[in-house]
Amino acid sequence: MSEPTDPVAGRTGTILYIEDNLANLQLVRGILAYRPSITLVSAMHGNLGLDQARRHAPDLILLDLHLPDISGEEVFKPLKQDPTTSAIPVVIVSADASRETHERLEAAGASLFMTKPVNVRQFLETIDAILE
Ligand code: MN
Repeated sequence: MSEPTDPVAGRTGTILYIEDNLANLQLVRGILAYRPSITLVSAMHGNLGLDQARRHAPDLILLDLHLPDISGEEVFKPLKQDPTTSAIPVVIVSADASRETHERLEAAGASLFMTKPVNVRQFLETIDAILE
């Protein structure tokens, strides 16, 4: 059985990571070195993230909840309302999502939650499952 950290050249797709913390962005960029066929697009502001989602039509969106301009929830809602982005799986990546926030986003269609700091194995298993 292969380990999730074995490079999987065949796994292709585009991931949009909406995150304002450079260290987290670099961590995810580093992990994605194990998936060389995946393209990572990033946005450090919520409104830019919405623009990027519409422009790139990514296969998966990773969304931080604390962003400098609008909150992650304010990014999430228009993503789910816009028919061009509504089908894209959104994984919430947050250090401190309250149970209430978690439940609200899950009810609104969030695919999964990931806790920061991102765990390499969990991260790769999650994106592999979604991009399969
Ligand atoms: Mn943040």
